Amino acid sequence: MILAADKGKVSGADIEAAKRIALKYGLGTNVDTGTTKVVVGIKGDFILQQAEDEFRGIGNFEVTRLTKGSYKLASRQFHPSATEIELPTGHKTGGGTLTFMAGQCSLDDWAYVKESAIMAKEAGADVLRMMPLKPRTSPYSFQGLGWKGFEMIARAKQETGLPVITEILMPEDDTISPQELVKRFEEFGVDIYQVGARNAQNFGLLHALSKTKKPVLLKNGTGQNAEEMLHGAEYILSGAWGPGNSHNGDGNPNVMLCARGSSGETTASRFPLDIAWVPYLRQRTHLPIIGDPHHSTGDWRNVTDVALGLIGAGVDGLELEIHPEPRKALSDQKQSIGPKQLEEIITVGTQIFAARKGLALEDSSAPYYR
Ligand code: PEP
Ligand code: MN
Repeated sequence: MILAADKGKVSGADIEAAKRIALKYGLGTNVDTGTTKVVVGIKGDFILQQAEDEFRGIGNFEVTRLTKGSYKLASRQFHPSATEIELPTGHKTGGGTLTFMAGQCSLDDWAYVKESAIMAKEAGADVLRMMPLKPRTSPYSFQGLGWKGFEMIARAKQETGLPVITEILMPEDDTISPQELVKRFEEFGVDIYQVGARNAQNFGLLHALSKTKKPVLLKNGTGQNAEEMLHGAEYILSGAWGPGNSHNGDGNPNVMLCARGSSGETTASRFPLDIAWVPYLRQRTHLPIIGDPHHSTGDWRNVTDVALGLIGAGVDGLELEIHPEPRKALSDQKQSIGPKQLEEIITVGTQIFAARKGLALEDSSAPYYR
């Protein structure tokens, strides 16, 4: 349920009254004071008619019940202003800043890892991508360095001062629970958990990530549409899962989405990425949107254009696969980029991002009908 009003039509006392009623009925609230509207989101699986009547009695709020069983917490309707996720460096992702996450597809030897980390830092990246474990389509492909690769995370952080994003997945030699897995990644100094395409609907993992407050980058599954990805995000945001939503409770509000392309028959790209996903998602969700121009194109020669196109379409950041000598990368060498290309994308991408800031359509609360 949402209580919405134009700014100036409701007072602080009205908001406090809404909070008091919510508390009385065991419901949570999310107050969002935007530039033109005040929205109080009411959190709870079941809202009694009596509670609704009391909310309606407050005054100038317009009260709307949202459709049940969808993605309430991820929606713009519930949370109109853009979510900003603060990283340990103070850099904020979303809400008008551009974030570049760069690093190797998979870690190799320390000399290259260090060189890649410095390359990312010098080009102006905000986050270092470090992948010791690699999910692969074929079980015979290179699967990453394993746990020994994690030791490089602390070294690379010391070298650059950048926060690290790492894909979380169950290693082959372990039988630990998703909760223990999340904890173990945290112990290695991981700052952002990436959920890869192959785990986009691994609900046990999504639920475990709802119990931390560290940021999560959720990539869309290869067969998923944008709506399905938003529902995946809702698992993390809500903490709800299981029969009767028995695993309910507070979730993790720090979710970013990553558009990485979906399966489709084409010779032009690896996983076709419809650029309209970006404005579509922006209208529907307040969560930051990151674009992946590598797994979608599969070809380093097409990465710059698609990266800049994604920024033009309104992403809040890019995830970039880099290598000092791309041909020597242990995975995804065909789509990895070198130092010059990285620098170009960051420099020109930043200009495009600045140029599109004045666009009238940046107002994501624009009505559907004009
Ligand atoms: C990756 O980021 O290297 C990766 C494997 O991506 P995805 O999960 O989107 O395939
Ligand atoms: Mn890759």
